[in-house]
Amino acid sequence: MTRLKVDWTGAAATECVWCGRPLDARARRLTGRTICGSCGTGTTDPLPDPESLDAAYGDWYWPSSGKRFGLVGDRMLRRSRASMAARIDEVAPPGPVLDVGAGEGTLIDALKARGREARGLERLPSREDIVDLSLPEVEQDDFAAIIFWHSLEHLPDSGPVMQAAAERLRPGGVAFVAVPDLSSPQARFFGDRWIHLDLPRHLVHLTTASLTAGMEANGLEVTATSRTRGGQNLIGWLDGFVAMLPGGLNLYQALRRKQARRIPLNPVQRLLSITAGVLLAPVALVCAAVEVACRRSGTIYVEGRRV
Ligand SMILES: [Zn+2]
Repeated sequence: MTRLKVDWTGAAATECVWCGRPLDARARRLTGRTICGSCGTGTTDPLPDPESLDAAYGDWYWPSSGKRFGLVGDRMLRRSRASMAARIDEVAPPGPVLDVGAGEGTLIDALKARGREARGLERLPSREDIVDLSLPEVEQDDFAAIIFWHSLEHLPDSGPVMQAAAERLRPGGVAFVAVPDLSSPQARFFGDRWIHLDLPRHLVHLTTASLTAGMEANGLEVTATSRTRGGQNLIGWLDGFVAMLPGGLNLYQALRRKQARRIPLNPVQRLLSITAGVLLAPVALVCAAVEVACRRSGTIYVEGRRV
């Protein structure tokens, strides 16, 4: 496994991107990120400049085909979005829904199929109901739900964006957030090698405590949390275990379609990565199950209602 390298450029982080307080002497400086001494959130450090971010996403993250994983993976993605849409429709009051980081619009489609008015925000939008705006630039302020499905961690201004979300929800409206949990056992066990650090694409590294405190500080009452709904708990363990083996194996990249891979894998490496993943799956399953049972999983899902 190659060690974590800071292979991007940008200004040094001086304040926590989540709580806005200075990264002072109490801050913990680690490779590629600095942990806030006040709220415990990690800020990617240095803050990648636009050129570094463009290079970090390249065209592998969202290939032009729109398909990222194999046939089974893309189908599972659609099914999980349908389940998420059902939950949103059940919990949020009537009214329009905004998906922040809408990707190719799978969740928007699932919401519309349930009769919801839905729109999205995304860089390089591919359709008319998705626009390239940041949330503070959105003027509409009567949303019944605003969704951050593994997108908050990609935003350079997550703190102000959460405030903007609270301001753009109607009373009783709900923010739905799923993010990796920096306070999870898998984050601690794998450290620099944890897949969900995903530097420098992830710009903020939240913990359960810092996420819920930040939402409540903006007037969002936490009404539900889940350790399983955010998904990606098992892959956190499995990818980490496979990456500890020799031979440059990478399970996550092996599961992606060829044109959607960041790191090229030769056919032998791909086969070995997947074989190792299958063999290590029982161990990873136990680790993920123990995490969930202890309510400390690799990702956290939170619903916060505007009071
Ligand atoms: Zn902070």
